[in-house]
Amino acid sequence: MSAVPRKPIYLDYQATTPLDPRVFAAMRPFLEEHFGNPHSAEHAYGWIAHEAVEEARRHVATVIAARPEAIIFTSGATESNNLAIRGVFAAAMPQRDHLVTVATEHKCVLENARWIARHGGRVTILPVDRQGLVDLDRLCAAIDDRTALVSVMAVNNEIGTIQPLAEIGALCRERGVYFHTDAAQGFGKIPIDVDEMGIDLLSISAHKVYGPKGVGALYVRTSAPRVRIAPLILGGGQERGLRSGTLAPHQCVGLGEAARIAGAEMVQDAEQAHHLFCRLWQGLQDAVPDIRLNGPATKRWWGNCNVTIPGVRAEDLMARLPDLAISSGAACGSGSGEPSYVLQAIGRTRHEAEQTLRIGFGRFTTTEEIDHAVTRIAEAVAAARANIRMVP
Ligand SMILES: *Cc1c(COP(=O)(O)O)cnc(C)c1O
Repeated sequence: MSAVPRKPIYLDYQATTPLDPRVFAAMRPFLEEHFGNPHSAEHAYGWIAHEAVEEARRHVATVIAARPEAIIFTSGATESNNLAIRGVFAAAMPQRDHLVTVATEHKCVLENARWIARHGGRVTILPVDRQGLVDLDRLCAAIDDRTALVSVMAVNNEIGTIQPLAEIGALCRERGVYFHTDAAQGFGKIPIDVDEMGIDLLSISAHKVYGPKGVGALYVRTSAPRVRIAPLILGGGQERGLRSGTLAPHQCVGLGEAARIAGAEMVQDAEQAHHLFCRLWQGLQDAVPDIRLNGPATKRWWGNCNVTIPGVRAEDLMARLPDLAISSGAACGSGSGEPSYVLQAIGRTRHEAEQTLRIGFGRFTTTEEIDHAVTRIAEAVAAARANIRMVP
């Protein structure tokens, strides 16, 4: 047995990432001396907070090559997805009543799709191939003359698939349909240019990119074309009237600093994730020859390694690995007991989905931690399989 560290090794970066200490340092003054309301225009307390929020907005915009005015701060990607989908439909209905989305989207996109379907709209949910990719011909065929919105995520949170955003954007542009992408797992990790990719709305979550929980943003295109969208939260008319409520400067600054760092270190972060992925995946294959990778082998986010281990239930495996903080699926779905719908959408059986581990890593993961994880998973698989043989 290898030495068991006191605290489990954190390998669940798709559920949330650690707060970068540089982000915390940037946030802190806005919880202490700079406590002003950013909407107070009459004194320096307000001005300082306001200027910090606007600088943060510029940092967020820069990462996706957007104009700062197009960034709306929210409480996170869940809220951004709610606003993008229901906000666009509130403005588009009844003339345009049709939503196109994909089976492997995050629960909050799919739940909003269900809401649209229950409230007089029509919804098409497209399947994906074995890699988790949406088929562009199918997507094209699904769009009709009353389609308001196409919503396809940037990077999948369970299996790391990167969708062809530029191709989807071009297709939507050609058909005169808005394109929304849930980029919670892609923002600051893969290069995104909203103009080049034809993206009209884009959801961001700070805590998936080394920022704090409870803050995110929605990019809403302001021109060519200006997106018609109605707010969900009414009040003082902050954030261009799209999201009322006093902004939390420390949270906005946290997202802004996380964005600034991610933009500056994107190549380095991606290279590190790739290096760790190769080490992990090679180590796992050497130790467990029948292990299978879920999601694409190449065009993927490298900080995700989702694997199916035949004959071993993930639940059993995880019980043997208290020293590893890994997941058997999406954080939002786990606890429900239902095997992952994402894995079933790429053709895994329910049974296989129950034999699946999601290992997520990134900026603060070391090669030593990856090596330790490989050793421990190998031990746990061997022990679990031995038990299976002992109990017929
Ligand atoms: C985490 C996540 C969300 C939800 O983001 P929050 O900021 O936690 O609300 C939405 N979509 C995807 C793909 C995610 O990974």
